[in-house]
Amino acid sequence: MKVTDLLPFCSKRERIADIASPWSAGEFTFATNGVVLIRVPRLAEVLERTRVPETTKAWPREEATEWHPVPDCEVPEDLLCPECKGSKRRTTHCFKCNNEGKMEVSSVIMLGPAGFQARYLKPLSALPNCQVGTFDERGPVWIRFDGGDGVISTCHLNR
Ligand SMILES: [Zn+2]
Repeated sequence: MKVTDLLPFCSKRERIADIASPWSAGEFTFATNGVVLIRVPRLAEVLERTRVPETTKAWPREEATEWHPVPDCEVPEDLLCPECKGSKRRTTHCFKCNNEGKMEVSSVIMLGPAGFQARYLKPLSALPNCQVGTFDERGPVWIRFDGGDGVISTCHLNR
């Protein structure tokens, strides 16, 4: 694995500076966007940082009972925020979109018992032989691929 393989799993929201790029700790190099956490054997060019997410408690609490290949995912286009019309207004805060100006459209893909947002599942298909290991609907659940592993949060369906 190379650093560039990890970049799709870093946060693209600049205000989340802690997770905007990969970091190394111990034997591993990590990347996360807050929903997916990827772990690979330590890459020498990725440095340690002081302010990084706690990863020891991020792992699934059970072993996987089913492994699923990553399916083809269609990610829906973002919608303009209906409240601020995408203006990203600066003077008042838009609570609807948090001043992003747009809103993500939900598209849930089921793998075994668990549902996942397509936008977070799709980048996994770039990892070699990536599979998602589920055990219940709540998760988080396992990710494994040639050269590393990780964890992905399930999305909670309103039932
Ligand atoms: Zn808005």
